[in-house]
Formats: sequence, C-alpha cells, structure tokens
Amino acid sequence: MLGLMQDWPLLIPKVIDHAGLYHGNRKVISRSVEGPIVETTYSAIRRNALRVAKRLEKDGIRLGDRVGTVAWNTWRHLEAWYGITGLGAVYHTLNPRLFPEQIAWIANHAEDRMMMVDLTFVPLMEKLQDKLPLVERYVVLTDAANMPQTSLKNAVAYETWLDEVDDDFAWGSFDENTAAGMCYTSGTTGNPKGVVYSHRSNVIHSLTVNGPDMFGMASKDVIMPVVPMFHANGWSLAFTAPMAGTTMVMPGPKMDGASIYELLDTYKVTLSAAVPTVWLMLLQYLEQNGLKLPHLGKTVIGGSACPRAVTEKFRDVYGVEVLHAWGMTEMSPLGTICSLKPEVANLTGDAWLDIKETTGHPPFSVEMKIIDDEGTELARDGKAFGRLMVRGPAVAGAYFKGEGGNILDDNGFFDTGDVASIDPNGYMRIVDRSKDVIKSGGEWISSIDLENLAVGHPDVAEAAVIGIAHPKWDERPLLVVVPKPGRQPARDGVLAYMDGKIAKWWMPDDVVLVDEIPHTATGKIQKTALRDQFKAYRFPG
Ligand code: AMP
Repeated sequence: MLGLMQDWPLLIPKVIDHAGLYHGNRKVISRSVEGPIVETTYSAIRRNALRVAKRLEKDGIRLGDRVGTVAWNTWRHLEAWYGITGLGAVYHTLNPRLFPEQIAWIANHAEDRMMMVDLTFVPLMEKLQDKLPLVERYVVLTDAANMPQTSLKNAVAYETWLDEVDDDFAWGSFDENTAAGMCYTSGTTGNPKGVVYSHRSNVIHSLTVNGPDMFGMASKDVIMPVVPMFHANGWSLAFTAPMAGTTMVMPGPKMDGASIYELLDTYKVTLSAAVPTVWLMLLQYLEQNGLKLPHLGKTVIGGSACPRAVTEKFRDVYGVEVLHAWGMTEMSPLGTICSLKPEVANLTGDAWLDIKETTGHPPFSVEMKIIDDEGTELARDGKAFGRLMVRGPAVAGAYFKGEGGNILDDNGFFDTGDVASIDPNGYMRIVDRSKDVIKSGGEWISSIDLENLAVGHPDVAEAAVIGIAHPKWDERPLLVVVPKPGRQPARDGVLAYMDGKIAKWWMPDDVVLVDEIPHTATGKIQKTALRDQFKAYRFPG
C-alpha cells in the first residue's frame, strides 16, 4: 500500500520561493567586490534568480549544463546559484585558490559551458581561457560602470546581461534527483574528483543541519557565512539560511580580522561559520584592539580541527559558544556538530572542554560507524578508533564520470578517509586522516591531538605534526611550529608545556621552528608537502 500524500519534489528553487514569499523583506547584506556594502532582500534575490534562469536559457543553457562560478560570497553569487538551479542547470563552484592548471583541469572535466566570474578573478580567467575551449561565455559579476576592458570570450557585465530580460519565468520542472551543484574534492592525492549534489540531497541536507542541535538558525538570527561558497558546497548555508528566513551578511572578498569584525559588529551578527584560521585571525585582531563581540552568540568552526584554546577563549573572553563541526565535500558537507546533549550538558572545566573538542554528533540523515581493517564494526566506547564510514541521502554515492570506481562498501557506506572514535553518547572524535596518523611501535598517535595541544602554548601561532621514520619505532612524531611574531619558543619549553597532558609515548621526539607551514587551497595543513620538506630530517642522536 502506498501513502497518499502529495508528490512535492524537493527542488532548490522552492527554497528561494519560500524565502521570497514568507521572509521577503529579510536582508542579504554583502561587502561587494567593488567595495561598498550592498543591501538587498530575499524577494529581490528571487526576482533576479528568475531573470538569471531566463537569461541563461536565452544563452542556450539547458537542463544538466554546468555553469562555473569563480566568486566570493555576495548576493550576486546567491542569485546565480538559484537562477542556475532554477533552470535545472548545475552550479559548479571553482576554488580560485587552486593552481591555475588545476582550475582549468577541473573546469574541463566538468565541461563548464559558461563562467560567472567576480572582478577579482578576471585576470586569472583571462590567462586561463585558452585552456578552456568549452566555455562559450564569461559573465563578469558586476555592473556596466565597473566592467573592465577584458579579452574574455563574449564577456558581459552581469547587470547588463540581466537587464535584457524580465522576471516573468517559470522554474524548470524536473525530478528531484536532478543534479543541482558540483564541487571538486581538494585532491591531496591524484586528480580532484567531482562531487555532484542533487536538488533532493541539498534540500534534505539543509533541512536536517538546521535542527536546534545543529546550526539552529531562526528568522530572528543574523548569519555571516565566512566559509566561501566555493568550499564544500558553502556548508549549505546558501540554502539553510533562506529556508529559515535568516538575515545573511556576506563578507565578499575581505576575510581579514578587521573586515570580519566590522561586519559582525555593524550588522549585529548572531551566528557565523568558518575554518579555524579565520577565527585565529579574528581573535588576534580583537586582542590587539581591545574589542568584544556583544552580539555573536555562536560560531560554527570546522574544516580542520578547532584547537581547545580557541573554544575556551571564545567562551571565557567573548561569551561565544563554539560549535565544532566535521564534514567533507562528499557529505554536502556537514557530518556532525558539537552541541551539548542532556547527558553532557552539566559538565564543567576540563570535562566540558574534552567534549567540546570532539566534533559532536550527527543529525538525522547521517549514519556513522567505525570499523577496523577487516571491516568489523568497533565499539562506541570513546576508546576504540578506526576508519570512519558514513551513509545517507546527502553522502556521495559516486564521483562524476565514475572516477575512482565504486566508492561504497557492500553495505553502501562511504569511507571518509578519517580515523575516529565514537563515545557512548554518540560524540565523534577525529583522531586523524588515515594517511596522517603516526604509527609508532604498532600503535597510533594522533597528529591532530598533538597539534591542538601545541597551539595552546602562548608563543605558538600554528603547529603541524608529521611522522618521521624511526629505526626502532617505525615512526615518531616531529612537531613543526610557526612562532607568534617576535617569539622564539624553545624546544624544551614547548615539550614541557605538553608534558603531562598526553601519554608519554605520544611526546614529539623533536620540535622545529619554521616561518610557514604549507596549506592546501582550502586552508588545511598540507601534510604531503610538509613530509616532502622534512624528507631528509633525522631525529637528533
Ligand atoms: P573537505 O572535503 O575539503 O572539506 O575535507 C574534508 C576533510 O577535512 C575531512 O575528511 C577531515 O579530514 C577534515 N576535517 C573537516 N572538519 C574537521 C574537524 N572539525 N576536525 C578535523 N578534521 C576535519
């Protein structure tokens, strides 16, 4: 017997219809690439998205065609996403921080037919366009007054292009499993792989990650998504915020401490989301200038491990609750968020920090388990750790064009490549990337735990730990440290600081100071490059 409820496909354009109709006056405030702050509303964004769809159709874009975006978080990027998906075409975010050759490789692999490009990236795309034979037209996300002279093929200013049509357009009608968006993985090994989100996966993901224990956004909130829309589906905030009718504050191209603070303060932002490095910059700026954050209630920090010291400082000095989150491009991207369940709500002191340091628990729609190398499921006792496997309606089932072959196990679980433990209350702790974990004497040492601990030292700005070959133990940890400006932390001082806070045999065998630690285009520590850099290193003695 079948249910008798309506068949209402879960489509992205319905999200902006809802926001336009029921939260129409709510603002989207952006720092424009041109400079000034621009305010618009959900109803205006909806009208422009209808024009984007109509205009794309006039340019010959059809169901399933890929439209690349090389753009910061602004209202125009939002209009583009909704317009592209409203037609049944596919937004494909390109990360401008990748090497130019990689950007070209990705755009060609995705077969992008059009490119929407911010002013910042016009010179980059001019250099690349000869390598992009499939791109028929470049739309520069600006108006006629700010349109530069450019050699880009069929270049047009976005506002001029839009002015050729009105908003009298009906969204495309298609199945909810139709592709909506694409984002390539950062590709630390081999070529990047394309993750293809569907309308259904994006809608379900956005619904579940906004539960009260997750993002928990309401119409009275003001969110600033600092995480760029070109990272991991922009953490889905471009859909979750309009669904909830939440005011959006978009930082555009400026993500330094002063610019972020200015927006947080001026627009009374209540919730934000970004990777740890952004928050480290902000904290430094606040400290140097003696500033506070009276409006910010919560901030989601993820993408890399959030150091304990950051969570503590946000709480004690600024009264802000850190929600540590974990996810990946292949998961749309959110997997877990660390909000406090009743079982742990009354913890204090170190026990509270221990929980806040975990990456939390999953929303409904994310299934999670840990397994050993034989595939046997491990206990959820907070001690055993193994490969973290996930399954759900917003988890990748395959990569674009079948790259990488079958990526699921016999039960349909995807191997995240992370090593983790899960405690009896369901709190997951990332121990390491399986490629980065240090194997010492047959046991594993978490490089992430050591890094998190080391950055708590007052003279340490950033820390990375890699395994160095060792004749007796197989591998031993080497701690690589970027000191804070003007500081020279001594090896023994750093080790003394760590002593007693971890098992003796986890203690790094040496500490090396460097000016810089290499990062990937998504801001993660590039362990492969660091291992290369220290290839010839041997421990003293
Ligand atoms: P990406 O797809 O580029 O977002 O990378 C996903 C990977 O980032 C995950 O598989 C983790 O290895 C890492 N990651 C994300 N969030 C965290 C976190 N909170 N703590 C530690 N690692 C994280």
